[in-house]
Amino acid sequence: MHQFSRFSAFSLIFLLAGCAAAPPPTAPDPTRPWIGETYRSHAVSVSHPLAARAALDMLNNGGGAVDAAIAAQMVMTLVEPQSSGIGGGGFLVRFDGKTNAIETYDGRETAPASAREDMFLDARGGPIPYRDAILGGRAVGVPGAIRMLEMAHRDHGRLPWARLFQPAIRLAREGFPISDRLARQIAGDRHLRKVPATKAYFFDGDAPKPAGTILKNPDLADTLERIAEKGADAFYSGDLARAITDAVTNAPIHPAVMTLADISSYQAKKRPAVCAPYRGYNVCGMGPPSSGGLAVAQTLGMLDHFSLAGTGPNSPNALHLIAEAERLAFADRAGYVGDSDVVPVPVKGMVDAGYLAERARLIDPAKARDGLVDPGHPPGAEAAYRGPDDPLKGLSTAHMSIVDRFGNAISFTTTVESAFGARLMVRGFLLNNQLTDFSFRPEWRGRPAPNRVAPGKRPRSSMSPTIVLNKDGRFLMAVGSPGGSRIIGYTARAVLGVLAWNLDMQGAVDLPHVMNRGGATEVEEELIPAIADLKAMGHQVEVGRMISGLQGILKTPAGLAGGADRRREGAVLGDDGP
Ligand code: GLU
Repeated sequence: MHQFSRFSAFSLIFLLAGCAAAPPPTAPDPTRPWIGETYRSHAVSVSHPLAARAALDMLNNGGGAVDAAIAAQMVMTLVEPQSSGIGGGGFLVRFDGKTNAIETYDGRETAPASAREDMFLDARGGPIPYRDAILGGRAVGVPGAIRMLEMAHRDHGRLPWARLFQPAIRLAREGFPISDRLARQIAGDRHLRKVPATKAYFFDGDAPKPAGTILKNPDLADTLERIAEKGADAFYSGDLARAITDAVTNAPIHPAVMTLADISSYQAKKRPAVCAPYRGYNVCGMGPPSSGGLAVAQTLGMLDHFSLAGTGPNSPNALHLIAEAERLAFADRAGYVGDSDVVPVPVKGMVDAGYLAERARLIDPAKARDGLVDPGHPPGAEAAYRGPDDPLKGLSTAHMSIVDRFGNAISFTTTVESAFGARLMVRGFLLNNQLTDFSFRPEWRGRPAPNRVAPGKRPRSSMSPTIVLNKDGRFLMAVGSPGGSRIIGYTARAVLGVLAWNLDMQGAVDLPHVMNRGGATEVEEELIPAIADLKAMGHQVEVGRMISGLQGILKTPAGLAGGADRRREGAVLGDDGP
């Protein structure tokens, strides 16, 4: 375990403990030692401290941001299996320190050829309950993470592929302590115990394994060793691919058909980034099949027509404007966004400056619009879908932001969809249930939903890995979050924290959340003082906990400064270099 020797057990225990709902710190916080730190060479902000450690080790040993991201993802498959892993998918945005170019990689899961547009409808044609849809074989998409990471590594890897798997393989063999958060999620999940192989891993008999249990996963170690040695083909063909098709086809709940051809034909894709200006900065993210980049860009693009700087981040005026911009962005998301390889998505039109100015004019600075608003008419758009588009809530998914010594940066959000995915465990890893991100209803009043299910199609995501460029086109910030469709609001809020209110990265990540996904305006408890004013402006307000998991790195004159969300257990680590 030499790679963990510089990381004291003391800080590990504190980091693993997490610190949900703690107030913003006023004094040095031993659970978050990075606050106030800057790193002159490289830094990582990752959803789990052991994964952060693996990422930093790659950077310390000459690796680049892509190498670090792969090492972190492999460790996350082991230590944070509820959130992401090689059985899932993700989106990776990369900034190149030499050319200032932004590339985006799409590793989204894909529906198998057997998928049908009515697969989430009941006998009477209504959508089946979400809690039923998420379980078992039917919800599984062909995993994309490994193919995408291999593609990014071919393009930008500096360390040998096999080297990147070593921290995860070692931890899987030697064991890792179950964190408080993972233990709570194991104990709180009603479905894990329904699948024998999954139950056997997370339970002692009928008792959920408690925090601190040292969990070993030799099956995953074997799996990772094979992928390390033979590359992604070892996952997408042969024995491992067959194990996946068997698990889906013979699932104890909702068995479904996934074939070897579905798996071997999976392709990661490079796609153009979606960028939009905000206060002269360039905010870049992931285009379709994610709605994240577009919705964040639209929200900020509309808010660029108002002055937020004069109002505090938690003032009723600021909260109102953010909620109203998001309400409009979510309307366009529902109206137009699906997998752009299958349905037309007016990507350019949706971030067109004139169009966003027109949409911003719909925002009344003193009055909220009623509930659902209509999608707009961006240039190049066909008729919009106007129908139900229920936003889902999520407690899974993970984000990492990484900057290497060469000035390259990565913003990578990765997921198995809902916590523990489909609850199906194969060779030490969990399969995703990403197909539940499709619209369950294929149409509404005769008009097809852009995000309806189709074979070979990728379900629409909300993941918003974001990189913000300075006015001179250089890297300023990488940030993103888990959180289902709330990801969009979490990410926009953190970007605004830095760009509109000059907060540092941790301050921006700590901001209490406000969100509007087309209905009520949702706020965290710290914003209760603003509720009376919001109601007076016409908002219907809901108060609740919002478990974001923002992970960000901000470049400052003093060096790289990180932020990790106190609502989860992520960590920031970095180094000053030689
Ligand atoms: N599967 C979701 C998406 O891609 C993320 C789920 C979550 O954050 O819980 O948008």
